[in-house]
Amino acid sequence: MEMPTTTTRALPLYIGGRFVEGQDPGQDVFNPATGEVIARAARATPDEARAAVAAAREAFDRGPWATATAAQRGRVLLEVAQALRARAPELARLETENMGKPIAEAELDVADAASVFEYYGGLATKLTGDVNPVPDDALSLTLKEPVGVCGQIIPWNYPLLMAAWKVAPALCAGCAVVLKPAEATPVTALELARVLDGIADLPRGVVNVVTGDGPVVGAALAASPDVDKVAFTGSTATGRAILRAAADSNLKKVTLELGGKSPNIFFADAGWEAAVEGAVFGVFVNQGEVCSAGSRVLVERSIHGRFVEAMVEKARQIRLGDPLDPATRMGPLVTAAHRERVLGHVERARRDGARLVLGGGAPRGLAPGYFVEPTIFDGVDPGARLAQEEVFGPVVAVIPFDGEEEAVRIANATPYGLAAAVWTRDINRAFRVVKRVRAGVVWVNHMQPTYVEAPWGGVKQSGLGRELGRYGVEGYLELKQVHVNLSEKPIGWY
Ligand code: ADP
Repeated sequence: MEMPTTTTRALPLYIGGRFVEGQDPGQDVFNPATGEVIARAARATPDEARAAVAAAREAFDRGPWATATAAQRGRVLLEVAQALRARAPELARLETENMGKPIAEAELDVADAASVFEYYGGLATKLTGDVNPVPDDALSLTLKEPVGVCGQIIPWNYPLLMAAWKVAPALCAGCAVVLKPAEATPVTALELARVLDGIADLPRGVVNVVTGDGPVVGAALAASPDVDKVAFTGSTATGRAILRAAADSNLKKVTLELGGKSPNIFFADAGWEAAVEGAVFGVFVNQGEVCSAGSRVLVERSIHGRFVEAMVEKARQIRLGDPLDPATRMGPLVTAAHRERVLGHVERARRDGARLVLGGGAPRGLAPGYFVEPTIFDGVDPGARLAQEEVFGPVVAVIPFDGEEEAVRIANATPYGLAAAVWTRDINRAFRVVKRVRAGVVWVNHMQPTYVEAPWGGVKQSGLGRELGRYGVEGYLELKQVHVNLSEKPIGWY
């Protein structure tokens, strides 16, 4: 079907290899930097969600994808990577127009998304099973097989990259998928659908994209008896609902990447400039709309005052504004409603007695975009709401500490365990902290770099399972144990 640019038209659903108009008139999609409507996205009905699942089911059960050779699948993924790269500037612009992140970040996201497809394209032919050394005249094998139809529900903070994190390993494993983008950010997921639609060797129905409301479309995927696995990235509350729906339906497999309140820990001996920038970058990159945001800055008391001053100084230099300007370093928040939520956290922190040392409101001159200033609270009590609840915006809680013991205790004192960072020149201390901090990802003298080659995911209430790297594909594979008797002798038991 002929598709004019997505910015000027109603966005379709992608079901069974066809772009179809949704039954529901859909919902407006906004540019958060201007408040303008840029598209209308279909709001899939439960029937349409079921149709997408049925298309994936058919493609998985009867199509040639699950039985394609690893080399064939790998080549398809490499083609996707190439096609994404070929369209990188346009995809970055669409991402920025829909989500608000600075174009310089959107360009990195598109490059990363291509790398994810490339990595899993290469990995397809390296997945192997095992031969198990059983004590018998037999050959015991472990085979890896695709888990089946996967519902994949993603958030709005990295719309294209999260789609890549989900779709690429699933395709590498031989699964079929139904991808559900977040309500606010459907544009690049549908562009990905266009890219996939253009790949001749990817059978129809292997990837389906349905936009719409989480409690309708997302919930339908989580509850569907025809979905074998659901992979989710989003809030802990929604993750809980998905796990419950999975349990109450068919005990489908579940992987969850959830919230965080990641500690970014600074000891007095840290390299000063890199540390100050790491504290600021760790929380303000992508407007703080990052699950691993270093939203708690823990600072050793001997440098605390000076460090906060330097952070404020650095954060003042962050250039807010038109996210399409390559020099911009912070764009608007994703929606007006999200901005209200973030400002609500700021207001509560003030009432709870934290000391506001920077920002705290909407910057002057950028309305009607949904901007919030980089905001720093100092002297936050480790038990206060601002130190416990995920804000998902440009708001950081600075907490002073005395010594390693207290740093670790505060770092671990939330229900979350996604990421952490520790800054020190003392290698022994760095590793002691690494070992004691309960988190799925720990950076030493850095915060936020994420690579497709390395596993990603959280402990405690930050998630279940891992994405990326070799580990990322395991969640899309089932093990099958095969026993081949090499002896022709009867068992001889009776
Ligand atoms: P946020 O509050 O930041 O939007 P969510 O966790 O609610 O975070 O959203 C992440 C994704 O989960 C989105 O695609 C959203 O539509 C979807 N979602 C929301 N509620 C549900 C639900 N009950 N079941 C399944 N998916 C949901």
